[in-house]
Amino acid sequence: MDMCLHATDYAYTVRRFLSGLSWLCALCAVGLGIAHAVSTNGQFSAFLVGASGIFGLGLSVATLVHRTSRVVSAITLISIGSILAAQHVHTMETSLSQRMSEELLYGVSQLVLALGLIYVVRSRWGSRTQQVTADGLIVGIGAWLISWVVLVRPSIASSTASVLTTSRGVTVALAVLVVFLLALLVFSDSAPSPASAMLGLAVGLNIVAVVLRAISNRGDSPINITTVQAPLVMAVALTGAGLLHASSRQITSPGVQRISPPLMTRLISTTSALLIPVVIVSLTDPDGTQDRIVRTASVAVLAVAAMARIIQSVRANSRTQSQLIRNALTDSLTGLPNRILMLEHIDEAVQHSWQSGHLPTVLFIDVDRFKNINDSLGHSTGDDVLTHVARRLLAAIPEGATVGRIAGDEFVVLDPSTQSSTQSVLLAERVLDAFRDPVPTSEGDMFVTASIGVAYAPKGVMLTADELMRHADTAMYRAKDAGRNCIALFDDSMIDTVTKRLEVETALYRALERNELLLVHQPIVDVELGVVVGFEALMRWNRGDGDVVPPNEFIPIAEETGTIVPLGSWAINDALQQLRRWIDTSVVSPSTTMSVNVSPRQLHDPQFVTVVSDALRQSGVAPDQLWLEVTESVMITEPTQALQSLQRLNALGVRIAIDDFGTGYSSLSLLQQFPIQCIKIDRAFVQNIEREAGTRSIVKTIIAMASTLNADIVAEGVEDAQQMSILADMKCQRVQGYFISKPVAVEDVPSAVAKIEESDLWSRPFKK
Ligand code: C2E
Ligand code: MG
Ligand code: MG
Repeated sequence: MDMCLHATDYAYTVRRFLSGLSWLCALCAVGLGIAHAVSTNGQFSAFLVGASGIFGLGLSVATLVHRTSRVVSAITLISIGSILAAQHVHTMETSLSQRMSEELLYGVSQLVLALGLIYVVRSRWGSRTQQVTADGLIVGIGAWLISWVVLVRPSIASSTASVLTTSRGVTVALAVLVVFLLALLVFSDSAPSPASAMLGLAVGLNIVAVVLRAISNRGDSPINITTVQAPLVMAVALTGAGLLHASSRQITSPGVQRISPPLMTRLISTTSALLIPVVIVSLTDPDGTQDRIVRTASVAVLAVAAMARIIQSVRANSRTQSQLIRNALTDSLTGLPNRILMLEHIDEAVQHSWQSGHLPTVLFIDVDRFKNINDSLGHSTGDDVLTHVARRLLAAIPEGATVGRIAGDEFVVLDPSTQSSTQSVLLAERVLDAFRDPVPTSEGDMFVTASIGVAYAPKGVMLTADELMRHADTAMYRAKDAGRNCIALFDDSMIDTVTKRLEVETALYRALERNELLLVHQPIVDVELGVVVGFEALMRWNRGDGDVVPPNEFIPIAEETGTIVPLGSWAINDALQQLRRWIDTSVVSPSTTMSVNVSPRQLHDPQFVTVVSDALRQSGVAPDQLWLEVTESVMITEPTQALQSLQRLNALGVRIAIDDFGTGYSSLSLLQQFPIQCIKIDRAFVQNIEREAGTRSIVKTIIAMASTLNADIVAEGVEDAQQMSILADMKCQRVQGYFISKPVAVEDVPSAVAKIEESDLWSRPFKK
């Protein structure tokens, strides 16, 4: 391990050193080039030897240390080698064959460069290839046109040796190809690395040398061989510097994507490639038919390339624009219209209804308990469900109707052609029917239901699209309140309910900090012993005006809005503190228990277990004296999540009770999976126990089951002596109900306990 680290450390230091050296060499390259340009002797100078040395060093390091691509090494070796050889040939006798071989060497270097660039371009190619190719093509053709007019044509005109002139023309043409390929690299999406920048610059300098050489070959200019060689010296050394840099290793890999493509560079290059040749062509007269043909053909190709590029740009622009509009008006997951577009459709339908006499219907569809699906099975399963629901809705609606997804699990259907409220309701039923079959997801089939609010634009009343949608939304809430998986038709009275609910929601947010919440306690007694063995803490909301709100009016809202999490934590703390005080003041025995109701939402809260353990620690109450009451629904709707929290609580020593047992739909297998220490028989069974033999059998079965599960049993809602007597006969040990005591305020608990324990209830016949 240590050795490994040392090795990587060492390699890193070497690379850093070589990269630093490469920048130094790049600086030397510039110096050598300038020195060569100003030196008088020209020819095969010491500077060229120096540059070749740097190249040799770079090539060896790239091959041996960086393990740069073999192809890149070979290309640089051949092209630089042939350039150097050409310089050498130049110094020798100036026979035609020597001139030819020099020209051939230049040609080879350009050809190899072009092939090498094709190789690199192919491996570094990013997206937007079409546009980049078109831009590169414009630059290439522009460069060709300039070289034709300025270099190739004049040398053809002045020269007598046609083979030599042709090969010079070929070299220039190859150089033009190199320019095109270089442009592709510069315009591509990959950001240049130091190595690729240096090598690119070297290729550019090589082009400059080709141009200078072609001008000097024309014979009518003062450019001498020293000037031609200067950029070559620089290019040779710079290639070496580039190869020396550690980033030469990645020269053929796609490289880092640029955040913004080099648009400005492309714009300037393409504009110059269009403008300069056109100016040059128009300023110089064509020289003969051949020249005219080449100029015309080149300008035509340039014009076609430019035109193609413009068409491409316009198309891409309009594509982007329509994509933007589509994104702004549709939902990306389902492709359905979003809220904005749906409102537009509804508005259109409402406007139109004045002439057509139709009553457009809007359905507001909310997938029931979608949050649970998302939370317990993950967002991708949630997405599966939503896309399936979208497809079902599309299949269920009549022709002319539209479906939109306006938020997470909320869909809206608009049918502009309905003519009565009956038709609206029929439409809603048809849509609700679409949810009947299970939805296949990656986690298996799943039954998904929805609550649907129905609203239509009544005759003679001008409603805005927004109002109509809001009415459907309001009706949807009514459907939720009515137990979900159903439809509700909007009527005006719903607005009052919604306003009231909104007001409760807001007030509830503040209730805790304003100390408006309190707990009342209902004693739980042991029938055999006649003593209070525990309490159930029940929440009340005192809104200040003497108006005490019962839990069924605010707990469901607190559950929906999530406020139940802080409220529930407060309740656990407060109840345990209270129990501590009663134990300390000997109001009750030290083993008395405290039952607190817990909502499913609280079990989802990752902090919940910590809240419970903190409350236990702060109050000093033993964990097994805290009973947490959860309803059966917890086991059905979110088994995995609830199970985890309950198991962790159980591990703390806290006990779990199933509240309102018998009213839900929990299966025996679920019951067996859950860590349950107590079952509370619901009031509904206790109420009928005297009259109905069937109920008595059910209660007996529940009690038997509890004893098999090794769980305690408590009967809720005992209201008279007879009920208590029957329950005692059935060996139901603990009871709670108005017959013993109503839930009482904290200050009344001592007297209530005393009254219960002193009462003569326990000497009645049912006492065993
Ligand atoms: P629950 O947990 O089943 O509580 C028993 C309910 O039955 C209490 O109603 C209690 O006052 C009532 N009750 C007790 N004995 C009798 C009786 O003999 N006859 C009749 N008719 N009723 C009796 P309450 O206080 O209105 O609470 C209603 C429900 O609200 C509770 O049902 C519980 O589910 C929920 N709840 C109350 N406090 C909290 C709380 O702090 N957190 C949570 N999450 N839910 C709470
Ligand atoms: Mg309860
Ligand atoms: Mg209950």
